[in-house]
Amino acid sequence: MPLLVLFDIDGTLLRGGDPAHAEAMRRALRECVGEPVALDGIPLAGMLDRQIARLALQRHGLDTNLIERLLPAILQQTGRYYAERIRRGDRRSWVLPGVRDLLPQLWQHGHLAGVLTGNTELVARTKLAAADLDQLLPFGAYGDQAEERHLLVAQARFTVKIRYGQDIPLTQTILVGDTPRDVAAALESGAKILAVTTGRFGPDELRTAGASAILPDLADVDRVLATLQELAARP
Ligand SMILES: [Mg+2]
Repeated sequence: MPLLVLFDIDGTLLRGGDPAHAEAMRRALRECVGEPVALDGIPLAGMLDRQIARLALQRHGLDTNLIERLLPAILQQTGRYYAERIRRGDRRSWVLPGVRDLLPQLWQHGHLAGVLTGNTELVARTKLAAADLDQLLPFGAYGDQAEERHLLVAQARFTVKIRYGQDIPLTQTILVGDTPRDVAAALESGAKILAVTTGRFGPDELRTAGASAILPDLADVDRVLATLQELAARP
């Protein structure tokens, strides 16, 4: 039975905290609002870019209607500014242990590997190309395509159905992520979750969020594959 494995990017596939990403959003916010908009104090880990931009604008005091009107341009410009600065190969050294071995093995076993990320589509595709992972993660669901992370699971499954003609059941759909928000997205959508501690959260925080399968990283590829199979075998 094929698995649908959906990877978070920052802190899961690549080390987190890409300054060029935050800078692209700051620049897009400044340009669209006409003055600097702070991102300070927003708990970014696991949030969608759409949620981050909306929260920044709310904190800046803009009203809801104006925020909704500005959001599409801000997200589009964030992607553009990031793509202007980051080239293929620029994030090759950011790839976390095991990732480069695991992804081809998933495909060789007949599974489908994609991303489920808070990054906008253009930021995500640029980042994956910069890490030389884009061809191993050819589809995904992105942070400009939904209001909340758990809704991206249905988006990813729909994409797989259209693109590969495969209707993978939710029980065979596994998120891999590093934050309590990845765990919550899996629980709320009915997918499974493999949590890793390569981001800023430890096993206790991820367990408290509801994760039962937690690995230190993706380095032990056999163990990762076995854990994914074990999760898929659960009801
Ligand atoms: Mg993450």
